[in-house]
Formats: sequence, C-alpha cells, structure tokens
Amino acid sequence: MLLPADYHMHTPLCGHAVGEPVDYARRAVELGLPEIGFSEHSPMRRDDFDNWRMLNGQLDNYVAKVRLAQTEFPQLTIRLALEVDYLPGQEDWIRDLAARHPWDYFIGSVHYVSDSWGIDDPAKLSEWKKRDAFEVWSAYFDRLTLAAESKLFEIIGHADLVKKFGIRPAQDCTPLYARFLTAAAIAGCAIELNTAGLRKDCKEIYPSRQLLELAFQKGVTITFGSDAHAPEEVGMDFPDAVQLARAVGYLDCCRFVQRKRERVKF
Ligand code: ZN
Ligand code: FE
Ligand code: FE
Ligand code: ZN
Repeated sequence: MLLPADYHMHTPLCGHAVGEPVDYARRAVELGLPEIGFSEHSPMRRDDFDNWRMLNGQLDNYVAKVRLAQTEFPQLTIRLALEVDYLPGQEDWIRDLAARHPWDYFIGSVHYVSDSWGIDDPAKLSEWKKRDAFEVWSAYFDRLTLAAESKLFEIIGHADLVKKFGIRPAQDCTPLYARFLTAAAIAGCAIELNTAGLRKDCKEIYPSRQLLELAFQKGVTITFGSDAHAPEEVGMDFPDAVQLARAVGYLDCCRFVQRKRERVKF
C-alpha cells in the first residue's frame, strides 16, 4: 500500500509530547512514509493563555528542530507547519504567525468553544456535565465553519474532535456538518483524516464516515495525520484511514509546499 504523508505531528515543545523531530523522522523512514509534516501547537499572543503549547520565544527553536530533521533525513520530505488554534478575534495574531517563517501549511483546529474551555481537555471534563451536548456540538461546528471561512488555514484539523470523549447529542448533526463543509469547499480548505481518534474514548477516526461522505460529495479535499505525540505514533493506523477514504470515494489527497496545494494519489 502506498501510504500518504503524515501531516500532523508534535514535538516536546508543547509539554505533552515526547521525542525530537529527528526521532519522528527516523520512524517515518522505517515505515516507508514518503513525506511528513510537523504541526506543533502554535503559540498564542499571550504565553499564559494555557499550558499545552510552545511559547513565543520557542518558535525559532521549533523551526531549528524541524530543519535539523530535514538535514539528517534528506531521503524524506519534511514539511514545516503549525497546528493553530482558531478562536474568533485571533485572526490578526494568526496572520502575524504566518509572516514569521516560510511555513508549508497551517492546520486550523478548534479546541476552544469559549476562551476558557478546551473541549478535548481531560482536566476540563466536568464542564461537559454543565452543558447540553447539542449546544456544545453546535458551538464547536460554528467555530469550525468560521475557521474554514477565515482562509487562514490549508487544512482543518480533526473536524469532529468534539466527539473525543464519546459524548454525543441525540439530535441529527447533519446540518452542522453540511454548513461547515460548504464553507470548506468554498474556501478550498482541506480536512484531515486524523487517526488519533482511534486512541481516544470515541474509538473512531476524526472525522466520522458520515461527515467524510458529505465532504466527498461537496468536493472537499483531504490530508492524513496521526497527531503523533510520540515517535511510535507516526503513521499509526494509516491503513485504516486509507481504507476509509477509499471506501468513501477519495482517490487523491493534498500535499502543501509553501502554502500551495498539490494533489497526489494514495
Ligand atoms: Zn497535543
Ligand atoms: Fe488538536
Ligand atoms: Fe495535534
Ligand atoms: Zn491535534
């Protein structure tokens, strides 16, 4: 099987991942991956925003770590990227970040449905008990739609992260998916098949087959990502993700070079 690029990987700079970029690159070469991309959690304008991302002062060091991996593994294509949190009002900050290095792509992710609640944070799990699940899912997909419309991102990360803990509303969420995917199609923004969901309570790739089928119908393109927070997670469960994408009808995925899209078969 011709494996696609793994475009979602972290580094120890976020404080909750292990292994240097060179270690992730070595694992990718072992697996025969053609290409990888680092997408560390980007800094916020204020370093005290939360405690699970690199600090502003670490951005150059991050780039240097990725450059070192590129030098040590010339046989592997290694992209330089960021996983950027989308919060309404942060657009200027995201443009500032974009100007600081020659990035290959930005993954726009929604983790926050308010300034203080990251819906995927195990430390904030009790927040879920205070809210109606459909209300949370609606707020999440509203932000995801705004993220796509912002045109600040090449890829939208883990497009149904809100299912992480397996808390699902009884209501039909199709209209939420459809609105987001229409925005992604118009903006020319890809979504990723993120295999980390298989390692979480939801036990399912992000996004669900239903969301992915709708994405295919609307012409939304895809990438693949393991969301590796350790070298052994690189390319994890990619055969499952490829099988899902093929079953839905996808024949090609995207790669990005200096924020320009190319399409490749997988
Ligand atoms: Zn992380
Ligand atoms: Fe994320
Ligand atoms: Fe990530
Ligand atoms: Zn992620």
